[in-house]
This record gives sequence, structure tokens and C-alpha cells, in this order.
Amino acid sequence: MIKHDYKPQKHKEFMRKPLFNRLPGWITHPYLIIGMALSSLTLAIILSSPDPKPEPADIVDTINKEAAENALTYGTPISIPLELKSDIPPSSQPVLANTSTKTWQTEAVKKGDNLSKIFKRIGLSPQQVHAVITLDDNTALLKHLKPGEIISYQTDKDNNLIKLKYTIDIQRTLLISSNNNELSSQIENKVIEYRTAYAQGTIEDSLFAAGKNAKLTDTQVMQLANIFDWDIDFILDIRKGDSFSMLYLEKFLEGEKIGNGEILAAEFINQGKSFKAVQYTDINNKTSYYTPDGLSMRKAFLRAPLKFSYISSNFKPKRFHPILKRWKAHRGIDYRARTGTPIRAAGAGKVIASSYTRYNGKYVFLQHGQGIVTKYLHMSRRAVGRNKRVTQGQVIGYVGSTGLAEAPHLHYEFVVNGVHRNPRTVKLPQAKPVAKTEKDRFTTKTAPLLSQLASRNAVKSKQYTAP
Ligand SMILES: [Zn+2]
Repeated sequence: MIKHDYKPQKHKEFMRKPLFNRLPGWITHPYLIIGMALSSLTLAIILSSPDPKPEPADIVDTINKEAAENALTYGTPISIPLELKSDIPPSSQPVLANTSTKTWQTEAVKKGDNLSKIFKRIGLSPQQVHAVITLDDNTALLKHLKPGEIISYQTDKDNNLIKLKYTIDIQRTLLISSNNNELSSQIENKVIEYRTAYAQGTIEDSLFAAGKNAKLTDTQVMQLANIFDWDIDFILDIRKGDSFSMLYLEKFLEGEKIGNGEILAAEFINQGKSFKAVQYTDINNKTSYYTPDGLSMRKAFLRAPLKFSYISSNFKPKRFHPILKRWKAHRGIDYRARTGTPIRAAGAGKVIASSYTRYNGKYVFLQHGQGIVTKYLHMSRRAVGRNKRVTQGQVIGYVGSTGLAEAPHLHYEFVVNGVHRNPRTVKLPQAKPVAKTEKDRFTTKTAPLLSQLASRNAVKSKQYTAP
């Protein structure tokens, strides 16, 4: 943006100073200065004509005098640079009503812009661009401006940058200031405030739909399911009437909600059985979910070898039986899912087979601790080779219909010491508890959350049963 309040005498002084050389030539050109004064005048008239307030008239007077003086001083014809005029929308004219330059002005980043173009537009020199960009890591952020972002700035009467303000994101603002020609930068951090929120839902159609009714995002629904991933098979075991409740964090910035935080405590009632979990950060600063008794929610085996988020959109609870009930006949569980759905290792282990037969199709067998083997059949594609180590949850292949399979599905087997067991009912190895030495600390930290969840649940059920 252009300065409109130069005194003509100042210009002359100014031009004699070497300092002025720092400004691009077009700014110092007398025609242009006259042009600027005149364009301001035009704007001022446009702005002030429907407005009877006295101040704009004063400004018009001042500018008039200035323009007259300019015309006298230079005695030259006047041209108004059109491109400059178009760069100055009347709505963003803070300068006209203010003789001090130390007010914030703003410039929007346009498509194809960079700091050089913007500085040129607002009348700052290439040297100032360089000084700002190369100052430090903070100001290097200005190399990545995006259209629509706003640069706020202050300049002195000699068109030197005094302050620059740039919003990096909702939380951080970059501030650049110049003191005695010495530039410095800082990043101002706004503090995010966390508040505890409560949500409760009952499943009618699907877990995602219930989450939506409870005003939760899909991400939060997945976070909730992840907590209970070792206890509940979210693909096969979810039923209409199952319910959940949870305490979670909401993030606020200056009073406005900007997002959600983690789940602090949750309860899931699956087919009448209650599962509770509470978040706890141990003395080693490791955060995890535990039962109210202090047992880790994480266990050696996930309940289901497929992630429910890939499945539940395909299967509505009305037809809640993706399982083909042939457990006794073929000693495995079938999960119907689309071809390509990722299959995850139920537990950490080693790949003891990754191959193909006419009956199994493409298959992977995993060896785990305590004599447990898990088997995954009919894959469209295998993702691990023999003898490879896998972590729990790692993708080992993709659902398909290779081998003896009528439709795409995962055939999953759980074998303990050579005996096929039903993975949904087999007793799994005990979960790791909170260290004995910090059990008291665990109780002190988690009891308030659990009691808060319980009392919110009690209020909620009272509302439901109230006549
Ligand atoms: Zn099967």
C-alpha cells in the first residue's frame, strides 16, 4: 500500500538522503508521488461524498493543499497510475483518516504471490524483503504464503518496516519488529484451553450412526472402538441396543471450539456386558487405557483381524450376520468384507507360512507366544513373507476370494497348542497391569474421571426413565 501523507517538503529532503535509494525507483518518481496524492484525493472524495462527517472533508482539504503544492513544486502534468489505484480497495483505506503511519495495515496474499511481490505492492524495498526473509527460522515461514492469508504491517514515514504480523495457524502468530533498524522476530502462542465433554449413544443402525447422533465425529467413534479393540469384536458382536458413553476433551481457543481432544474415560455395553476404560499417564509419561482395576486394555490379541471401520459401512445391524455360521464344520470364523479390505495381525508374532494352495487360496499363518497360531485364508494379496516378524495390528494381507471361496471373505482360525479354538470366546493371555508401585497414583488420578462418567451416565438414564 502507498503512503498518502507525505509532506512535499519531506519528499525533497528525503530524496537527497542516501536512505531513499533503498526504495524502488518507481516510488520516488515525482509523477507518481503526485499521482498518489491525486489518487488519494479521488478516493477520499469518493469515500467522503455520501458522508457528511467533518473529518473526511478535512482530509480532502489537506490532500488538496498537498496536491496543489506538489503541482506547484514540480509544475508537471499529472498522471494517475491505474494499477496502483486498483490495488487499493476503498474498504481497506485506513490511511486516509489517519496522519500517523503507526497503525496496522493489511495486505491479502494473492494467487502467485510471494513476499517480494507483496512488499513491492506495499511500497517496501527488495532489501527489506531480503532482511526479513533471511532473519531467522521464524521469518523463513514467510516463504510459504498461501492465497487468502493476511499480512499486517506498520511502516514509518520513511516507508521502513516497523512491524509485521502474520498468522501462521489458529494458535501461532509471527511478529517481526524493527528497533533502530534492528529486526527481530518472535512467535506468539495462544493457549489452547481444554474442557471436558460428555457423550452418550445407543446403537440403532450402526456404531457410526449412533456416534453421529451423540454429536461425535467419525474419528472419535474410531478412537472409541480402538480403546475396546481387544475386548469387543466390532464387526461380529455389535448388536442393536448396545450403548456407549464417554468423557472426552474439547479444545478451545479464545472461547471458540477448535477441535476435539482425547477420550478420558469410556464405557461400552456390548450385549449386556459392560466394558470400562480410563486413560492414565504413568510415571514414565506413557499414556494408555486401563480398566478401572488397572489392567491394560491392550492384550496379546485383538478380537477381530479386520478393522470395523472398513466393514460397518457395508453391513447394517439389521443384517448383522456377516459370519457364515459354520464354526463347527470348518473350525474358523468367516468375516465377509470387500476384496482389498486390509487384514491385520491379531497379535505380534512371526510369519510361519505365506503361500498358496487350491483350498486356502493365498494364506498367511502367524506363530505367537504361548503355543498360539493364527491363520488367515483366501487373501487377494499377501503383504508379508515367511519368517518375517509382525507387530500387532500390522497389515499382513488383503481380503479376497482365492481358493475355495464363493465370495470375498476372510477365513480366520485361532489354534492353541494344535487345537482349534473359537477366537471370540477363547480365554486370552492376561493383560499387563499398572505397576504395583504406582497403583495408588493410578487410583488417585483415574477415580475422579470414572466417577464423573458414572454420575453423568446416571443423570442420562434418569432422563430416559423419567415419566
Ligand atoms: Zn471359512
